Amino acid sequence: MKIPFENSYVHLPTQMFARQSPAPVSDPALICYNDELATRLRISGAPDVAALSGNAISTGAEPIAQAYAGHQFGHWNPQLGDGRAVLLGEVIDTYGSRCDIQLKGSGQTPFSRRGDGRAWLGPVLREYLVSEAMHALGVPTTRALAAVTTGDTVLREEPLPGAILTRVAQSHIRVGTFQYFAARQDIEALSALTEHVIARHYPDASGPDELLVQVIERYARLIAKWMGLGFIHGVMNTDNVSIAGETIDYGPCAFMDGYHPDMVFSAIDQHGRYAYANQPSIGAWNMAQFATALIPMMPDQDAAIEDFTAAVNRFPILFQNAWKDVFAAKLGIAKVGESDVQLINDLLSLMAAERADFTSVFANLSGGARDQFIDRDAFDSWYNRLKPRQAENAQTIMAGANPQIIPRNHKIEAVIAAGREGDFTPFHQMLGAVTRPYAALTDATEEYAKPPSESQRVTRTFCGT
Ligand code: AMP
Ligand code: MG
Repeated sequence: MKIPFENSYVHLPTQMFARQSPAPVSDPALICYNDELATRLRISGAPDVAALSGNAISTGAEPIAQAYAGHQFGHWNPQLGDGRAVLLGEVIDTYGSRCDIQLKGSGQTPFSRRGDGRAWLGPVLREYLVSEAMHALGVPTTRALAAVTTGDTVLREEPLPGAILTRVAQSHIRVGTFQYFAARQDIEALSALTEHVIARHYPDASGPDELLVQVIERYARLIAKWMGLGFIHGVMNTDNVSIAGETIDYGPCAFMDGYHPDMVFSAIDQHGRYAYANQPSIGAWNMAQFATALIPMMPDQDAAIEDFTAAVNRFPILFQNAWKDVFAAKLGIAKVGESDVQLINDLLSLMAAERADFTSVFANLSGGARDQFIDRDAFDSWYNRLKPRQAENAQTIMAGANPQIIPRNHKIEAVIAAGREGDFTPFHQMLGAVTRPYAALTDATEEYAKPPSESQRVTRTFCGT
């Protein structure tokens, strides 16, 4: 296996990371390897389990743990960083884009605090499935290149099998990376980071002010896409907000089955800070933290505060526009107008009242969706309002906007349960289904489209630790 590393982050000021090799594991075994992604990354040869478990360092890799900070559930934490991951290095993909290759679950680093630096199999399988599903759904996201078991036991509340995910991202730079240096008034690192991010992700931004504007635009569109899929990220801390605008950190995330705006899955989110309907306002809050972190390097800080405040204040309108487009497509509306917002919200209200299955309702809007409702008259009269608004090619628009299959929680749980017994067949089957979310259902994929029964329903998810 040859990875054509071309690293740049290691050449930034040394206080931005710690050199750290992955810690060896006892008996690594490959669960899955993403050939299509490997090809895009110009990685050649058969997957090498030693390299993918951290037991061998590939030629050209310069492993580091990156420093970052963050607001966790609104509380400032000045020192987080890669506590259970190392960045092996970067490659330039076939599109000419620089990508990070990271091992997650690779052992302790200077940022591990009290953690063991490891991951157990459950979160690794979950992240593999959900991140690859997100990519197939058309949502910017980190990717999964490989998953391995380590042969070691990880101690959580009980002993669990250890695993390592190889994660690929446009970069692992977060809002929290900026916050780390801003909090330390480290202008050297803050400026170097800003320059690096602009060159790498926003090449047409002329400086920090335009960078902020463009990050806000990407993040608003990202959250609108989440909303359109009934996706709840679950832990929108600023250390989990990718500067490149990708979905990152699939700890306690979930796709809703039955729709309700107040849905929360994460066991630690007791006050519902990251509930489905709160995601846009948390998005704005996170962008305000990003703006704040840019201020220390601005020559005229008073002027910058004024400009940046205006930029952050545009978040709600940018989000609302993106949201309208996302939901208009889901309804087969080509030119969305103001009255369509009411139409969209009325459907969502009908769905919320009955906790109708989010994915099934949209996937079957022009077919069996009415059967999802107890109050079919209410649905029918709503549908009669929709019809005149739909485009001629509504079916095509809708087919590309409404997946048949999302990675449902109860299915993920079943995959993890089988994996704990050493059976990865359900994992591979599910991966095949969730990576073709818009395809017509077949006998083999139908089960993944079905909402859970009452007894199958998962109501809680947990962080990946
Ligand atoms: P997360 O909840 O995944 O966003 O992680 C928040 C912070 O906790 C990051 O700095 C992680 O590196 C760190 N962390 C999470 N789990 C572990 C672990 N098992 N060992 C060391 N650090 C961890
Ligand atoms: Mg994280």
